[in-house]
Amino acid sequence: MFKKILIANRGEIACRVIKTARRMGIKTVAVYSDADAGALHVEMADEAVHIGPAPSAQSYLLADKIIEACQKTGAEAVHPGYGFLSEKAAFCEALKAAGITFIGPDVHAIGAMGDKIESKKLAKAAGVSTVPGYLGVIKDDEEAIRIAREIGFPVMIKASAGGGGKGMRVAWNEGEVADGFRSATNEARSSFADDRVFIEKYITEPRHIEIQLLADSHGNAVYLNERECSIQRRHQKVIEEAPSPFLDEATRRAMGEQSVALAKAVQYRSAGTVEFIVDKDRNFYFLEMNTRLQVEHPVTEMITGLDLVELMIRVAAGEKLPLTQADIGIHGWSLEARVYAEEPTRGFLPSTGRVTRYRPPVEGKRDDGAIVRVDTGVYEGGEISMYYDPMIAKLITWAPTRDAATDAMSDALDGFQIRGVGHNISFLASLMQKQRFRDGRLTTNFIAEEYPDGFHGLTPDEGARDRLLALATLFQQRVAARDGMVSGQVPAHGRRTARDWVARADRTNHPAHVTLTDDGATVTLGGRDLTVIGPWEIGQSLWQGSIDGVAMSVQVDRKGLSWVLTHGGAALVVDVLTARAAELADLMPVKLPPDMSKYLLSPMPGLLVSVAVKEGEAVKAGQELAVVEAMKMENILRAEADGTVKKIHAAKGASLSVDEKIIEFD
Ligand code: ADP
Repeated sequence: MFKKILIANRGEIACRVIKTARRMGIKTVAVYSDADAGALHVEMADEAVHIGPAPSAQSYLLADKIIEACQKTGAEAVHPGYGFLSEKAAFCEALKAAGITFIGPDVHAIGAMGDKIESKKLAKAAGVSTVPGYLGVIKDDEEAIRIAREIGFPVMIKASAGGGGKGMRVAWNEGEVADGFRSATNEARSSFADDRVFIEKYITEPRHIEIQLLADSHGNAVYLNERECSIQRRHQKVIEEAPSPFLDEATRRAMGEQSVALAKAVQYRSAGTVEFIVDKDRNFYFLEMNTRLQVEHPVTEMITGLDLVELMIRVAAGEKLPLTQADIGIHGWSLEARVYAEEPTRGFLPSTGRVTRYRPPVEGKRDDGAIVRVDTGVYEGGEISMYYDPMIAKLITWAPTRDAATDAMSDALDGFQIRGVGHNISFLASLMQKQRFRDGRLTTNFIAEEYPDGFHGLTPDEGARDRLLALATLFQQRVAARDGMVSGQVPAHGRRTARDWVARADRTNHPAHVTLTDDGATVTLGGRDLTVIGPWEIGQSLWQGSIDGVAMSVQVDRKGLSWVLTHGGAALVVDVLTARAAELADLMPVKLPPDMSKYLLSPMPGLLVSVAVKEGEAVKAGQELAVVEAMKMENILRAEADGTVKKIHAAKGASLSVDEKIIEFD
C-alpha cells in the first residue's frame, strides 16, 4: 500500500479523498493555488504544496507542477478527484513517465472514452445499446439535414469532444438542424478546440440513469447498481439518488452487465461510470463513460456501504477487488443535493464572497434512523471565489425508504445555515416539496417543466405561517423577559412583561398570547392554542423542536427589530409588537422600493467589458446595451423596451457590484 499520496484537486473532493486516505493510514499531500492558501483541504492534508496563481489554467491544470510536487514530497500516487486533470490522458502519461501511480484507469481507457464518437463506436462493438444515430463526423449543414431526415426528428447535434453540457443542440425540424449544426460546431471549436459534431436521435422525456463500475487490474469488474440524475438544470445535475425509482430488476441487470462488458472491452481499472438515457418504455441507451470518480458517488456509497475512494486506492496499488457481483446489494435509499453559491431567484446567477456563517446540519445517524452526510470544502469565514466551481457542499441523506430519505433531506436543508453568499437552499427545498418528485415521476425536463418562469422563492403556507408566528411571539416574550431582569432598575418598580402581543407579518396583525410551560409555551393565536416544544437560548440561530405537533427546524435571524424565520425554504419576516405599537404600525407609510425601471443595472458582480450605446442614442427592445463578464462568462445585456439613453453611469473596464447602475434612460 502507498505510504503517501497527492491529491491533485481542491474543495470538497480533495477533503473527501484526504478523509479516506487518513483512515487507511496513508499520508496526504494537498496542492493549492494563491486563492486557496487558507482552504480546508490544505489544512486537512499532512503537507501542502503551492502550485501557482488562482486561475486553474495556471495551477490545478498544470501537470508539470503536480509532478514536481510529488517529487518534492515523495508522494507515490496521485488521486485526481473530478474535473481538472482527472480525464486528461496526457497527464496519466506524464505520471507514468515519472514513475508515479495514477489512482484511476489506464491511459488508453481514458483516451478511448474521452471522445463521444469513438466511445460510442466502442460501446456498440461491446454489445452496449446506443442511441440510434450516425457515428461519423458531419461535414456541413446539408449533410446534417440529410442524416437528421434518415434518423427521424427530433435529433440532437453533439460535439464529439463535448462535456459539461456544452456543444449540444436539439433540432425538431430541418431549419433547426442547420442552425444547430452551426452553433454546436462554433461552441465546440471555442470550448474544446475541436469542432467535430455528430447526430443522434433525441430521446424525448428521457431519464438520466448511470451505472457505477468498479474494476481491478486482474480482469475483475462489478457494477454497484445505478444512480438516477434526472433532476438537471441546463444539463447539469442538481439532485441525484440511488437507486432509481424507475428501474426494475431486469433493466438494472441488463444495464449493469452491458456496462461491465464495456469496462472489460477497454480493460478498465478503478471506479468509472457509464451514463445512459432511459426512455419512458425503459429502453436505455449509452451516452458516455466517465473515467473518474463522479460528484454524486456518495449516494452509491450510502446504499452499498462501500468506500469508493478506498477501493480506487486499493485497486491502484494492485490489490484485487474484495467483492464479487453477488456481494453487492441495495440497502435503503439515498439522495444528494448540490448546494451551490448562486442566486436561484435571479436566474441562478453565480454568487461569490465571504461565507460569514457556515453551519451544516449535524452529520451522522438521527433519532429516526436516517443518516445525514455533508461533503464540503467550505468553512465559516472562508471565501467562495470566482475562479472555481461554485459548489458549497453536497448534502447527502440515507433512509430505509425514498420517502424517508426525502423527508430527511427536507429537514437537513432546513438546518443548513449559510450566510454571506447567495445559495440555492430554498430552491432545493422547493424541489423536495414537489409532489411529482415525491412520486418519482422524473425526466431531465423536470426543472424546466415545473419552473417554466424560473424560481421566484417560496412563501410559507398558512399552517407554517401560523407556526412561525407563534414561535416569533415566544422568542419576543423571552427577550422582553430578559430585558426586564436587567439589574439597576428602580426598587419596587419591577418591569412587567407583556403576555399579549401582536405578531405582524406582511402588514397583517395576528393577536397572540403566550403561556409559558416547562418545555416551551402554549401560544394562542387567532383563538387557537399552538403548543411549542423545544429549547432556545437568546441569540441561537437554529431552533429545533415541534409546534402544534409538527417537528420543525427553523433558522432564526434578526433584521433590525424584526424576526426572520426560515423553514421549508421560505422566510417569514415577523414583528412582534404590543397592541398599541401594532395600531401605530398600521399608520406607518409603506416604503416603496425606488423605481429602477429607467436604469440598466448590473445583474451580477462582474467586469464591464463593453458598452454598446452612446448618450442620446435611441435604442430598440432587444438591442445589445452592454456586456458584463462574470465567472469567465460573457453576459450580453439587452434593452427590455424601446427608449433613449440619457446617461452612462459606468465606463468600460469598471468592476461592477450587483445592481450597480450602468445606463440611465429618459
Ligand atoms: P456532457 O458530456 O456534456 O455532460 P452528455 O452526453 O453526458 O453530455 O449529456 C448530458 C445530458 O444531455 C444528459 O444527461 C441528457 O439529459 C441530455 N442528453 C444527451 N443526449 C441526449 C439524447 N440523445 N436525447 C435526449 N437527451 C440527451
